[in-house]
Formats: sequence, structure tokens, C-alpha cells
Amino acid sequence: MHRELGIFFRLTIPLLLGVLAPAPCEAEWYKGVTHVHSLWSDGDTAPEVIAAWYKERGYNFAAFSEHHVLQEGDKYFSIMPDSYLTPADVEEIKQQFDEDWVEIKQEGNSTRMRLKTHEELKKHFDEPGKFLLFPAEEITSLGGPHVNALNIREAIKGERGDYAVLIQHYIDQVNAQRQQYGLPMIAHVNHINFSDGVTTEELLKLHGLEFFEVYNGHPAVHNWGNAGKGMPATDRHWDVIESMNLLTQPDYLLYGVATDDSHEYKAWEVGKSNPGRGWIMVNADSLDTDALIRALQKGAFYASTGVLLDNIVSDGKSLSFTIQAKEGVQYKTQFIGTLKGFDSRSQPVLDTAGKPLPRASHTYSDEIGKVLAETGDTSPRYAFTGNELYVRAKIVSDKLQDNPFADGDLESAWVQPVLVK
Ligand SMILES: [Zn+2]
Ligand SMILES: [Zn+2]
Repeated sequence: MHRELGIFFRLTIPLLLGVLAPAPCEAEWYKGVTHVHSLWSDGDTAPEVIAAWYKERGYNFAAFSEHHVLQEGDKYFSIMPDSYLTPADVEEIKQQFDEDWVEIKQEGNSTRMRLKTHEELKKHFDEPGKFLLFPAEEITSLGGPHVNALNIREAIKGERGDYAVLIQHYIDQVNAQRQQYGLPMIAHVNHINFSDGVTTEELLKLHGLEFFEVYNGHPAVHNWGNAGKGMPATDRHWDVIESMNLLTQPDYLLYGVATDDSHEYKAWEVGKSNPGRGWIMVNADSLDTDALIRALQKGAFYASTGVLLDNIVSDGKSLSFTIQAKEGVQYKTQFIGTLKGFDSRSQPVLDTAGKPLPRASHTYSDEIGKVLAETGDTSPRYAFTGNELYVRAKIVSDKLQDNPFADGDLESAWVQPVLVK
């Protein structure tokens, strides 16, 4: 359990009282992952084995986000040697759970196992205050953008077309379900540098873009950019979108999540899309889906690939937090932001013939996403000068991540941007 006191918005009252008395409704940090695949789509393992993996490692919540579908209805998966579900896999599931847990159906020459539904998985794994599964889907455009829809109630169909139009359509559909069901739901745009990528300019066309993956643990997603294709690092997309949207939407905030996008649970190494690489730490009043999603909506969370934080405070004058430092590990914190009156011009990336590189994002001025301050302190604090539009923080340690998505990746964390008024 993560019982560290996380102080976001309720700091002032105890300070006025002069003591750090516990607030009436004490928020806690909950560790979770919102992008996970199983046999319901193209993951290589049954969902119960994956849910158990996360729960046993101290995660507090997980959302399976299968391509195209919610985990509901009858779905049978063929048991075959050299497949994602071998006879040996089924024996292991029986041993891990129960002989009766596994339901097998014989049809002609085919032996198949019924996949556990979201409701069945919840019934088995949910534990108050300790672990929670909530529904999700990865809305998937084949050869195009992918968007995760958290806590939705009806599957949303992936379509083909203009990337910005598609993503807008998915965000609108999630919002429509949110209205229809009266439940908190959010959408996050996934792995924006995967395959042909989604350009910064396409993302700038969207209305209501609130979340994106600043980190995704899949080895094919180019988190740190792909220069040959004119793809900036996810951090760069973030600063450009945040800055440019603030020109027309004074309260605009874009939040970054870290996810696993795990598919492979049988072989563990760099180059495999294994779990355990990227997650979010959410500061919520309780471990239930409503509280978690509402906390995400107000930015009460940070993204991590190994660095843990506490006491994240934005009091209008500064942004500060503490790093849960590991012995022998050094931490570098960069406070990043854009100042008022920045140069908002951009240029297309050209190929060697001088033509715009297809599907490249534009380049923007260095005045966007400047490093405003850098420190090795484990209690970093940045005092606003009042010239900033927003400030966020990135913490990079010198500790190599165990089983990273790419060799050499360092344990890091991202604090969400806050507006400076
Ligand atoms: Zn995807
Ligand atoms: Zn995925």
C-alpha cells in the first residue's frame, strides 16, 4: 500500500491551523496502469494471469484496454501447441487458480478455453482499498491512431480516415458516453510516435484533448522521438501543444500518462512488450473508479517509470515536491515551461529535395518548453516569476530501468503542468 501523505489541494487548511493535521478525507497514492492487453485482443496471456501479476506486485488498479472490445460476452480461445494458449498454459492456470476455474469446450477437433470477463475478473481480484480493475478499451484505427477510453460502458468502433478527425471522433464518443451514463470517463491518446505517428499539428486541431501517453512501454513507440521521420520526443509534443493551445484557451492543460501497453508475459527482455515499465501514481480519496478518474481529471497524479514522488504542491506561487530517493541514486529535476509572449512560429521539416517530409511534425522555437531551472535536490521547488504560462517538471534518475523498453532507459517521472496566473 502507498500510505504516503499526498498533498495537492488541501495543503492550505492545515497550514492555516499551524499543524499538519490529517485532512478529514485523506488522499492516498494509488499505483496503476491503464493500457494492458490480454488474449481478449493481441496479448499472449490469459487476463487472470496478468491481473494476478499486477496485483502481486503492489499495483492498486489496472485497466485492460483490448483493441476494439470490452471484455464481455462469451469468448473462447483455442488451446493449441505453439500458440498463445498451449495445453501447458492451461495446466498452469488450473494450478494458479483452481481446477474448476477453467472452462473448456470441445467442438470437433478444437479444444477451447472460455476467457474470463471483466465482471468475473473484478469479482475475483477486486479488494477494497487494495486492488481494483476498471473497464477500458483501446479504440484502434488500423494503420492509424489509437485512443484509450477509460471506464466506458460500450465498445467504440475503430475507423479509418484523417487522423485528427478520427481522434476527435473518439474523444467525442467517450464524452457522449460520459453524458449518457453520468459516469466519469476519460480518453488518452496513445503512443503518438508509433508507426506513422500523430503529428503535433493534428493534435493541435483537437478540441478537448486532455490526456496523452508521455511514456508507453512498448518497444516500437519511439517515446524519445524518431528524427528520421520528423517525430519529436513526446515531451516536445507536450510543450508545443500546451503552449500553442494556451494562446487561445487560457485554462488549457494537457496531462501526460505513462503506460505499459503490455502484450507479452512469457518472455522477458528488452524488445518484448512486457509489463512493469510505465504507470501512474494517482492521489485519490479512495480506491474506486470514480475517485481515480476524477483525480486524473484534476491532474492529481504523476507519471513514472521508476521514480516515486510525494507532497506535490502547487500553491499559486511555486511548484514543489519531494523525491523518494533510493540510496546511491542521483536525481536531476528539470522545471520546464514557456514564457508569456513566446515565439509561436513553426516550420515544416523538409526532405533532401526541399519538400515537406510526409507526416513530420513542424519544428517550433526553443522558447517553447524551456528548461527554467534544473536541480539535483531531492526536494525540488520552483518559485514562479509570473512570466511563465505554465510549469511542469521532469525527473530523470541515473538508475537504469530493469527490463526497459529500450537499452539505457533511466528511471524517470513527470509532474503534470500547472498554470501560472
Ligand atoms: Zn496501440
Ligand atoms: Zn495497446
